[in-house]
Amino acid sequence: MSFDLAARLAARRAEHLYRQRPLLESPQGPQVLVDGQPLLAFCNNDYLGLANHPQVIEAWRAGASRWGVGGGASHLVIGHSAAHHALEEALAEFTGRPRALLFTTGYMANLGAVTALVGQGDTVLEDRLNHASLLDAGLLSGARFNRYLHNDAASLAKRLEKACGNTLVVTDGVFSMDGDVADLPALAREAQAKGAWLMVDDAHGFGPLGANGGGLVEHFGLGLEEVPVLVGTLGKAFGTAGAFVAGSDDLIESLIQFARPYIYTTSQPPAQACATLKSLELLRSEHWRRAHLASLIGQFRRGAEQIGLELMDSFTPIQPIMIGDSARAVRLSQMLRSRGTLVTAIRPPTVPAGSARLRVTLSAAHSEAQVQLLLNALAECFSELQAGPSHA
Ligand SMILES: *Cc1c(COP(=O)(O)O)cnc(C)c1O
Repeated sequence: MSFDLAARLAARRAEHLYRQRPLLESPQGPQVLVDGQPLLAFCNNDYLGLANHPQVIEAWRAGASRWGVGGGASHLVIGHSAAHHALEEALAEFTGRPRALLFTTGYMANLGAVTALVGQGDTVLEDRLNHASLLDAGLLSGARFNRYLHNDAASLAKRLEKACGNTLVVTDGVFSMDGDVADLPALAREAQAKGAWLMVDDAHGFGPLGANGGGLVEHFGLGLEEVPVLVGTLGKAFGTAGAFVAGSDDLIESLIQFARPYIYTTSQPPAQACATLKSLELLRSEHWRRAHLASLIGQFRRGAEQIGLELMDSFTPIQPIMIGDSARAVRLSQMLRSRGTLVTAIRPPTVPAGSARLRVTLSAAHSEAQVQLLLNALAECFSELQAGPSHA
């Protein structure tokens, strides 16, 4: 008996699904150094340009001077510092929820919330395009697990008819690989009609969406009644790291008691919480970042349509270009890179088979001129690919 890893890896390569990690040698930003090459990048999730913001860095430094560098223990032992606590209070106020609870990552927040709320005898219903962490959480929970058609409240309603036990409906707010947004009012209506709870993971909505960056729930004006379990992550528009769950006092107390990914892990560094508190302040108050980003999104969509690219139904900073074939998507990504532009090809199993795409993400840190450079590079690469590989 042995693990034939070499064969598995070879098969992965043959399917054009082999993953490699670009080596980043600079901070995040529009201009990065990757594998020794300077590139104009359109693939991070730093939508508001806060990941390398001087004031956020300074807050981190000051936090480290005050608190040291490590969390030192889990929250329930002695790792829950006043810095973490202050951030939780600020996030509760920001989301308009009674309380918020910090997690070390979004993956852990999702595993923690779902597994604490449902188990054997219960039901969890998920959008079929949900983020992997939500799907994993549903499977791990031991509850009856079912996926409804993408963003389809009627499909959800049918599954709700057959649900048993406590029922949790789970959806991304902004879908991370498509950029479209969940029809939260319709999903909330169906869930409420059946006494089910709606959990929304708005990892990509906090920051860019909502008048004050409060994400998709602010965009739709939904409160605790409609969305009892609200998840946000801090590694995207907040520019730092970690995640939170916001909701009622009973929800947060239950997570503290029962969410194993909350209990059995070291708290995030307190200095990181200090940095996030600063980035939250900037995210809320600097409206120009949202306005500039929205104008870049409009510029990109108009330009891409002129070139004849197939865009998706998205008004968010996630603007994928649908390609279909994985090999073709990888080839286009390589061609863009040889022109100094970095756009990631996203392939199965991250997205459904036959729907490989170039995932363009825009940030308030980009300039109009940089978006124009991207459009020029895309126009060249697509026309070269159309012309065929005669030069190969
Ligand atoms: C990125 C992401 C996560 C995971 O968050 P991390 O903090 O990076 O672990 C969870 N859900 C969605 C929808 C995401 O896009």
